[in-house]
Amino acid sequence: MADFLQLGIRKEINHTLKSLGIVTPTPIQERTIPSVLEGKDVIAKAQTGTGKTLAFVLPILEKIDVRMSDVQALILTPTRELAQQISKEIKRMVENVEGINTLAVYGGQDVAHQLKKLKGAQHIVVATPGRLLDHIRRGTIDLSTVQMLVIDEADQMLHMGFLPEVDDIIYETLSTRQTMLFSATMPKEIRTLANKYMKDPDFIEVKEKTV
Ligand code: ADP
Ligand code: MG
Repeated sequence: MADFLQLGIRKEINHTLKSLGIVTPTPIQERTIPSVLEGKDVIAKAQTGTGKTLAFVLPILEKIDVRMSDVQALILTPTRELAQQISKEIKRMVENVEGINTLAVYGGQDVAHQLKKLKGAQHIVVATPGRLLDHIRRGTIDLSTVQMLVIDEADQMLHMGFLPEVDDIIYETLSTRQTMLFSATMPKEIRTLANKYMKDPDFIEVKEKTV
């Protein structure tokens, strides 16, 4: 079985993973990481608790160009708790890596504070759809430089009624080269959204619960 180094994750991050006891990639990580590194669009279906977060976070970190100061990756997630959790996970992963900045943008958070942070260089933005759309409409965030877009927990987005907002946001990220969608289930509405925006995606499905 491949380890994270063999999957193409740099040694500094591999070291951090090891220190957290994360040594063996889960099946969804083993299959998703190479596809994302190759630049493919990905639709990944796997149960809760199978390690989907690192499946997109790790290859995204390999693809961020720290010489550029613009937003290169946008991760959409349904709740503030998930936005905080994912940004915390990213910050943990870059502890031994220079210069990758991440910002979480979600409702209930002080807008002035967010605006100040948005003025700095942010390579990765993790956001809930509603608050991100506020920023888009105010012109306080520029998503024209986003290369990688992740729609995380897509079925939760659907159940919470966020798909129209997600659709609007995808429309704003016209320059996006790569779209990744993660979900525990694939209802028709999610497949329709994926078909509308994705280019020849790799469909990755893992059935068993593994972590
Ligand atoms: P999902 O999004 O699929 O529900 P998460 O990405 O939240 O799952 O991961 C669930 C838990 O598994 C987290 O605590 C995470 O740190 C842990 N985890 C992820 N990948 C691995 C791995 N390869 N080995 C051990 N634990 C892992
Ligand atoms: Mg998840």
